[in-house]
Amino acid sequence: MLAAVLFDLDNTLIDRDRAFNALLLDTFDVPAARAAIERVDAHGQGGREALFLAWEKHGGGRMDQECLAAEIAARLVPDEALLAGLRNLADRVKIGILTNGASQGQRCKLRAAALDQVVMAEHIWISGEVGCSKPSPDSFLRACHGLAVDPASTLYIGDHAPHDSVGPAAAGLRHRLVSAPLTAETLAHLLSEEMPL
Ligand SMILES: [Mg+2]
Repeated sequence: MLAAVLFDLDNTLIDRDRAFNALLLDTFDVPAARAAIERVDAHGQGGREALFLAWEKHGGGRMDQECLAAEIAARLVPDEALLAGLRNLADRVKIGILTNGASQGQRCKLRAAALDQVVMAEHIWISGEVGCSKPSPDSFLRACHGLAVDPASTLYIGDHAPHDSVGPAAAGLRHRLVSAPLTAETLAHLLSEEMPL
């Protein structure tokens, strides 16, 4: 029996790459510049200093983590169907979010996607606030402790195997990887496999 479902944020509950690509289109006219920066970004997993250097080199001006997160957040919209699916899930099990990133930027994205309306504030763990990041098993165990659930009864859903499979496996959680950001439909399908009625 599942007691809790924990979610990654970027590219799991929000379509971070789509927002990032929209920002690239708004900033860089030259397709080769957009492609180069997209490569350095590596779906948000590439080195940030290298990203900001490339940003400036290709004529995008100065960029930093806080500004980037705000620009991404400005291009997110709440997915009402997914939010309804999460509310429904929250009626059955505890839900939470465990994400790597800086506090202000991640909170900005959570608000933009209205996820702060469906997940309790005390059930959101941001590495920049708690001082422990994925894939450290401690970050997953801390979240399970906060939810007051057994890791073995907790499912972690994320998109990035090195963080979102290795970490939860080491902490004893169940885990599933998604190949695209969740929609109401893909969430329902995944849950039907993990917690059949
Ligand atoms: Mg992610």
